[in-house]
Amino acid sequence: MNRSLTLGADVGGTYVKYALGDDGEPGRWTGEVASDPASPAITLGRLAARIAELLPPGGRVGAAGLACAGIVDVEAGRLGRAPNLPGWEGADLAGQLRAAFPDAAIALSNDVNAALAGEARFGAGRGGRDLVMLALGTGVGGAVMIEGRLLVGHRFGAGEVGHMILDPVGPLCGCGNRGCLEAYAGSRGLLAAARRRAAAPDGSPGLRALVAARGETLTTRDLADLAARDPDAAALFREAGERLGQAVGNLLNVLDPDLVIIGGGVAAAGELLLGPCRVTAAAIVLCEAARATPIVPAQLGSAAAALGAAHLAAARLAGGTRETP
Ligand SMILES: [Zn+2]
Repeated sequence: MNRSLTLGADVGGTYVKYALGDDGEPGRWTGEVASDPASPAITLGRLAARIAELLPPGGRVGAAGLACAGIVDVEAGRLGRAPNLPGWEGADLAGQLRAAFPDAAIALSNDVNAALAGEARFGAGRGGRDLVMLALGTGVGGAVMIEGRLLVGHRFGAGEVGHMILDPVGPLCGCGNRGCLEAYAGSRGLLAAARRRAAAPDGSPGLRALVAARGETLTTRDLADLAARDPDAAALFREAGERLGQAVGNLLNVLDPDLVIIGGGVAAAGELLLGPCRVTAAAIVLCEAARATPIVPAQLGSAAAALGAAHLAAARLAGGTRETP
């Protein structure tokens, strides 16, 4: 028996999450191996060794997709700027992936693009062809799908929704500009806002106590838990949600998608964030029918990018090409 399986891998600074399975069910085997931020060859070697242990008798990897944070040149198969993987910058990802899985059709993608591909095929975006996804993690990533195709841009820099500037004199963003969406709705920005609020003379006692108790270990989950009984904590999510809505409203005016998917750890705050987001977005949208565009939570969690990478590779195999996209 020769069973062709599909692999998807999502490379982060600490772990590579993988999903292996048949085309329709790429999450049959999932797990993670440690990534080596200095070496793609060592990392992909580790991944290949793990996958070799998992393959059923007669099974082989027929399609392998790799997702990476950073600018991924899907034509040349190279990784550009990659802050979480400094040793990987400029790496020949296609060549490394091909060396690790020589029999496989391969596909490369940016991690948020892969997450959107995953949500589109298996999660919150099923059935949609025009989709926008925002991933609210430490920073904010974005991805856009138009007529079923991921938008990568001419220089592979499209979808940087996190750096849409919402207020040119707003808080400083990690990118060096001010008032980017990321500075409000990424966890780094939200936690900074919480600390500023706690330090204000009229900051609520509850928020002040939480910030003092957690110190550097404070998380947006701590803030979301407090928000149920503390007006200052609730206001932090309302303000972040309104900023998110400002960005989403702008995107709805430009792209008019089927729906907008909000993922990432900060999105676990749910309606605290999405409620104000919907109200603000609707107020910005010009097209009356588009005001009701669904703005929904992601469904696949941290598995989305690995599942999406697998799907992109399977689609490449089905398309009859073994080359880099
Ligand atoms: Zn920025």
